[in-house]
Amino acid sequence: MILCDRLTKVYNGIPAVDDLCLEIPAGEVFGLLGPNGAGKSTTILMLVGLIRPTSGACSIGGIEVAAHPIEVKRKIGYMPEDVGFYADRTAAENLDYAARFYGLSEAERKRRVGDLLALVGLDGVGTTVGGYSKGMRQRLGLARALVNDPEVVILDEPTANLDPRGVLDYRRIVRDLAGRGTTVLVSSHILSEVSKVCTSVGILARGRLIASGDREVLSRAAMQDRVTIDVETGTPMPRFASPEILSAEFSQDACSARIVAESDISTLIAKTLYAEGILLRRLAVEKPDMEDILLSYYTEGTA
Ligand code: ADP
Repeated sequence: MILCDRLTKVYNGIPAVDDLCLEIPAGEVFGLLGPNGAGKSTTILMLVGLIRPTSGACSIGGIEVAAHPIEVKRKIGYMPEDVGFYADRTAAENLDYAARFYGLSEAERKRRVGDLLALVGLDGVGTTVGGYSKGMRQRLGLARALVNDPEVVILDEPTANLDPRGVLDYRRIVRDLAGRGTTVLVSSHILSEVSKVCTSVGILARGRLIASGDREVLSRAAMQDRVTIDVETGTPMPRFASPEILSAEFSQDACSARIVAESDISTLIAKTLYAEGILLRRLAVEKPDMEDILLSYYTEGTA
């Protein structure tokens, strides 16, 4: 459904995307993962036909993007990293405006806009977009990407500005789309986020695909993304309650603990201790660096 064949983009003699080969079947939720500057946005811009490859090609549903950009745009929904809207119009007006490009009748547009606003949790918001939070804009961006009921949805860093509730809504929407056979490509630099929603993943570093595969690659990556937190207190500490905690080892006097979690929950720990009046002596967070994780793949891949 989404195909990249030796896709390459060179800027000032330096490849931003380097000989990228990808094949993403229909109905897949594919995560394009990599640190900032890895080439994720550049790949996406070529996939949606906004920039032309230096060499190689990409196609969506069998149609080559660079040769037939208009045809491809009809098939896809795209949410850029920074979504632009008319600030002096409401969410519904912005969506209606976007829907006009796809030749929908007024009645169809009205129904579609209403459904999409409900889907992303913006129904009933009558104010203009200028006053929206970043999270609300991102919700609206997702709605706009779906306005033409696309076969393929491409989302650049979709959770960057969302609050936890927004992230849950986003995941529900993506799973629902995949359940209906829509192909979804999301880019992210956050391993744990990709592992929550994607069925397969490609890891990009310095423009090159260094690993790709299904849940196995993901779970290995997620495992290396774990955060270790060492805590020392003046008096015994309580057990911490968080679904993010994977394991917790306490010393016999419960004045020191080593906690392994899916993400950095040091603030929660500090708040809990403060609320219980327990003196915090040390709180050290050990977080693996995304580059280190990627490097381990790279080393293995080239060994
Ligand atoms: P990501 O989305 O993974 O953060 P990008 O695709 O934005 O990465 O960037 C990949 C590389 O290409 C970076 O080194 C970036 O500086 C470079 N790059 C991206 N766009 C341009 C451009 N328009 N002109 C020159 N260099 C660019």
